[in-house]
Amino acid sequence: MSQPLPQHHEQPNPPAAVACRGLTRVYGQGDALVYAVNEVDAMFGTGEFTAIMGPSGSGKSTLMHLLAGLDNPTSGDIVIEGQSIIGMRDKDLTTLRRDRLGFIFQSFNLVPTLTARENIALPIHLAGKRVDEAELEMLAAKLGILERLTHLPHQLSGGQQQRVAVARALLTRPAVVFADEPTGALDLRTGRELLQSLQSASRQRQQTVIMVTHDPAAAAFADRVLVLVDGRIAHEIRDTSYENIVATMAEVGA
Ligand code: ADP
Ligand code: MG
Repeated sequence: MSQPLPQHHEQPNPPAAVACRGLTRVYGQGDALVYAVNEVDAMFGTGEFTAIMGPSGSGKSTLMHLLAGLDNPTSGDIVIEGQSIIGMRDKDLTTLRRDRLGFIFQSFNLVPTLTARENIALPIHLAGKRVDEAELEMLAAKLGILERLTHLPHQLSGGQQQRVAVARALLTRPAVVFADEPTGALDLRTGRELLQSLQSASRQRQQTVIMVTHDPAAAAFADRVLVLVDGRIAHEIRDTSYENIVATMAEVGA
């Protein structure tokens, strides 16, 4: 017997898409102990586009992996769409990741034996759903890889592989998109197009975007910037003009 569904009410403050409390990740032990992420509290509102900046080694990638359920914290809690993922069964976490989250990471993880088109469609096939080919081609066109859809990954440049990975992450319209240095391997123009895709995902489709970047010009596409220093949030920048980001980063020594 299924339980009756709870009543839905309009809530004045909709729950954050992603939130963490006291989030801590320690590596190593003894003298080599590193607090990669140290007691971080953060909220990521639905449809909000957040950039995470900070010096190399400040814990950006670790924080992102924790929030996405790809790594386990030493302590603290992570809540995605109202559900704590700590202690969640692997099977449920896998389903949550597949159905609700999208990933754009530095390693593209394309399947070498599948074409670009097949790689982009793979998560949807795995979820047993039908691929919207028109939408796939629209995304591919926007990312400048429409002519490359029949190619295998090894026949593509690094930047093109990156864009295939981006199309794969966005086609499922995930509630939350995690991106770690997504413009790293891209030329200026393609990088800008990718950032515009992320921005319209957030503004037009209420997708929540969390993006690590060291580039103030990329961060300027976001609604806010969280600055990490030594595993802690040292600052939140709300005015995301390029000039203000550069000035604030210099001020906090990041
Ligand atoms: P960022 O992405 O900001 O450059 P990271 O999250 O990669 O920073 O790393 C934060 C800190 O944690 C660094 O001091 C790094 O050396 C350490 N660290 C990251 N991953 C590991 C690991 N697998 N083992 C040990 N230390 C790690
Ligand atoms: Mg990193």
